[in-house]
Amino acid sequence: MKQFDFLVLGSGIAGLTFALKVATRGRVAIITKKNRADSNTNWAQGGIAAVTSKEDSVEMHVRDTLTAGAGLCREAVVREIVSEGPARIQELIELGTHFTEREVPNAPGRHELDLTKEGGHSKRRVLHAKDATGAEIERALLEAIARAPNIEVFENHFAIDLITAHKLGRADGNRCLGVYVFDNETGRVETFVAPVTLLATGGCGKVYLYTTNPDIATGDGVAMAYRAGAPIANMEFIQFHPTCLFHPRERTLLITEAVRGEGGRLLGADRQRFMHRYDPRLELAPRDVVARAIDSEMKRTGADNVWLDISHQPAAFITSHFPTIHERLLRLGIDMTREPIPVVPAAHYQCGGVVTNVDGETEIAGLYAVGEVACTGLHGANRLASNSLLEALVCSHRAARKVLAADWPKLQRDIPLWQSGHADDPDELVVVAHNWDEIRRLMWDYVGIVRTVKRLQRAQKRLANLQEEIQQYYWDFIVTADLLELRNIATVAGLIVQCALTRRESRGLHYLLDQPDPDPAWAQRDTVLRKAG
Ligand SMILES: Cc1cc2nc3c(=O)[nH]c(=O)nc-3n(C[C@H](O)[C@H](O)[C@H](O)COP(=O)(O)OP(=O)(O)OC[C@H]3O[C@@H](n4cnc5c(N)ncnc54)[C@H](O)[C@@H]3O)c2cc1C
Repeated sequence: MKQFDFLVLGSGIAGLTFALKVATRGRVAIITKKNRADSNTNWAQGGIAAVTSKEDSVEMHVRDTLTAGAGLCREAVVREIVSEGPARIQELIELGTHFTEREVPNAPGRHELDLTKEGGHSKRRVLHAKDATGAEIERALLEAIARAPNIEVFENHFAIDLITAHKLGRADGNRCLGVYVFDNETGRVETFVAPVTLLATGGCGKVYLYTTNPDIATGDGVAMAYRAGAPIANMEFIQFHPTCLFHPRERTLLITEAVRGEGGRLLGADRQRFMHRYDPRLELAPRDVVARAIDSEMKRTGADNVWLDISHQPAAFITSHFPTIHERLLRLGIDMTREPIPVVPAAHYQCGGVVTNVDGETEIAGLYAVGEVACTGLHGANRLASNSLLEALVCSHRAARKVLAADWPKLQRDIPLWQSGHADDPDELVVVAHNWDEIRRLMWDYVGIVRTVKRLQRAQKRLANLQEEIQQYYWDFIVTADLLELRNIATVAGLIVQCALTRRESRGLHYLLDQPDPDPAWAQRDTVLRKAG
């Protein structure tokens, strides 16, 4: 058994920020299922939203967030996160994060932050590090982690399940006592215990066939919290990024929103602009509007993709603003300075998650959740671009502050060891791969950008069968990372469908053809699910 003061599950912006802050007061284990930099954070391109210019204000950022959230944001939470953003950004800069700067106009030699604009923002307020903002933040945080004496990072360690007082049959209120962890190198399951556990496991893009997310994004944190009895909310709100590269060899290259922010135009199969038919804000309409417009355009014309064209801008402007995308596209034979880029929408961001307050507290004592895994009320029915890194940064700071101010209970040492199945039949393992594919395709086909009750019900039925089958495997077979992820994507897919079937209206990212308008009775009402029993 491994004993720590703090367990941090995940090494993206949320987990690393929290770990650095609590390490001043105790020993921290960061448990991460692949290499430490494998995270959605490392892939974030566009930037992080915060009020840092004189032309901008907290009120304007709050208003833009509420507008995108389509009536479901919690205004007090939005205000707290937006107000605290600038101070947390300053800390990131002091930690060594280099955001892109520009020369101040009419003041040669003086520099200021180069702010960019994305869909839904009324001002330029997105700080960025060229087009690889997340990688720069992750680099700075990981370097700080390497310098911190109290932090041990466990790579290739997969958190399987939370250990709670309820699960152990201890009646004194539900409390998180630690976590069972699968060591991918030894194949053994280890027991980690601590008075405080942070879930910072990110989102669930891999539940869908097409996604911008890296392989780690299998919704493990939501599935674990659900199994432990924590409420999960608003999983129907999955943001589809409108512009993911459409290419047979490269399926997850996101073409940042900033390309549209800097003048990129969407073209249909006939190479003509089409956004004027859908929204007066054209290419800068919020993501859900643009994604639905593209979906509709593709269905209308039968095309496999649409096109994103920024080739009218000077080549030097394009290569300096989007060096990473430009280079990756060139490797695939696409020169974005001269030709349009083929794009499709893809699952991108999970707005719902484990219910928390703005300090990351869940309903289970000792269990905190921060970042994409959590549902604080900031995003409501739709996330404003670049607000997610902001939320992770602010809430991990607040969670650390809360934890450090609390009295921790005594460590529980009498925890039973993990019990695993023993079967290991390679033929049967093919079924795992098959079920993975089946879930991702059925979610894409039946629970995508535009939904109907009939298709959702079909998905629910099929998922129930798959879940039963997977559960059987889970108990019989030796655990593997693939099997653990399969169990989690099946759980999370089920939660998305159940939330989507509960919300009989269209709002933000949830678009139901049967009820295409918002229902005022559902404004400010979350869809909350909790495991029975
Ligand atoms: C391509 C792309 C571009 C994006 N661009 C932007 C942007 O410009 N601006 C913005 O604000 N947001 C952007 N986002 C969203 C943003 O990157 C994420 O919401 C944010 O980084 C989430 O941070 P996190 O710390 O919560 O999770 P992540 O950064 O995803 O980290 C999750 C961590 O948990 C680990 N983990 C997961 N499950 C387990 C388990 N069972 N056991 C152990 N470890 C586990 C993972 O390995 C990983 O280390 C983008 C996302 C993508 C995919």
